[in-house]
Amino acid sequence: MSLQIVRRQVLKPPLREVRPGLEPRPHLQEAAKFRKVEAQKPALRFPVNPDTRAFYRRFYPGTSARDWNDWHWQFRTRIRNLEELSRIFLLSDDEKSAVERHKGPLPVGITPYYASLMGLDDASEPLRRTHIMTGDEFIRLPGEDDDPLGEDHDTVVPGLVHRYPDRVLFLTTGTCSTYCRYCTRARVVGNPGGEYQFSVKQWEQALAYLEEHSEVRDVLLSGGDPLSIGDDKLDWLLGRLRAIKHIEFLRIGTKIPVVLPQRITKDLVKVLKKHHPLWMSIHFTHPRELTPEVTESTARLADAGIPLGSQTVLLKGVNDDIAVMKPLMHGLLKRRVKPYYLYQCDPIRGSGHFRTSVDKGLEIIRGLRGHTTGYATPMFCIDAPGGGGKILLAPDPIAGRDGDDLLLRNFEGKVYRYPDPDGTLGR
Ligand SMILES: *Cc1c(COP(=O)(O)O)cnc(C)c1O
Repeated sequence: MSLQIVRRQVLKPPLREVRPGLEPRPHLQEAAKFRKVEAQKPALRFPVNPDTRAFYRRFYPGTSARDWNDWHWQFRTRIRNLEELSRIFLLSDDEKSAVERHKGPLPVGITPYYASLMGLDDASEPLRRTHIMTGDEFIRLPGEDDDPLGEDHDTVVPGLVHRYPDRVLFLTTGTCSTYCRYCTRARVVGNPGGEYQFSVKQWEQALAYLEEHSEVRDVLLSGGDPLSIGDDKLDWLLGRLRAIKHIEFLRIGTKIPVVLPQRITKDLVKVLKKHHPLWMSIHFTHPRELTPEVTESTARLADAGIPLGSQTVLLKGVNDDIAVMKPLMHGLLKRRVKPYYLYQCDPIRGSGHFRTSVDKGLEIIRGLRGHTTGYATPMFCIDAPGGGGKILLAPDPIAGRDGDDLLLRNFEGKVYRYPDPDGTLGR
């Protein structure tokens, strides 16, 4: 007997028992059918990790799995004020007064899903520190600025930063699903009615600039978070960019696959897939973010043929430790995400408590390079204040020279020779 026949027997549906008085009633059958169809709606089928499930049963009782997995619900139900924060977190006095004191852009904003990953009773928990403000945010240190990268200076039309010869940064929206306290665009985001406005009219200006500038072959969509834009509008924008012949390469910078993984619906993926070659840079911070939900969101994107890179900001007390960074990088590779950039934290106003020394970043790179998979080591860089662009830093491998030989240090600190009679390095 073949294996197939055995299987078929095992999977045969059980005979329906019809007991007197318990015959199926048509209206109940209809209701059951409806429930079944609803439960199978593909857009809302999404994994929920056990801790998150316990969290939402506790803090959002009566919420169905359908709602929880609906990105619109997550977006609508974001934690945005002191009252909501206090309902869920045991806030420190410092956090409380900082939230009360805060005005203007970069408000509190946390999706319920992302909150479920945070320490509820522990103000020092890494993900919580990156999203709930503290008094340190009001301290301004020398060298800090609202626009340290000088983006406003390189803005050619509103929302379009053209700094490098062949590529542009396109700020598409001022909205994010969650607001990171160290945001490099703190001045721009989460401030409806503020100085920075984003609209289709503004997009048109950017598109007109891009149509005229044939030297631009690469457009990086950022914001805000471009994936907070609805499917139809995003489809329209990507389509317009694709229609410009000299633009070869599109990429989206986003944190949504991490903080609102439910946004990566099959419909969204279908939209993105239409506009290849499309790449994506995803903002990751900590291995705690690597949940089954994120495994699903990244798998959907990778399966759609979107090459995924990660961007991580080096943050004091959050991820400035090889014991945190290495599992993060390994977890990313397992999810088909290539670690792209590790950023030294920008000197944004009020970010002093997050910034490490530059040595720390080099120490992390030294702990990765050579010790683990080459793909797992991101490029460490400083986005130069004043608009100099990204400047890469790496541990110096040049140990000197011995006549015609260049002396090079390997990852273990051992010195090796390379014949380089015409070279100048190490002299
Ligand atoms: C980071 C950035 C880019 C893209 O830089 P890559 O090194 O190509 O990833 C483009 N424009 C601006 C203004 C940027 O800050």
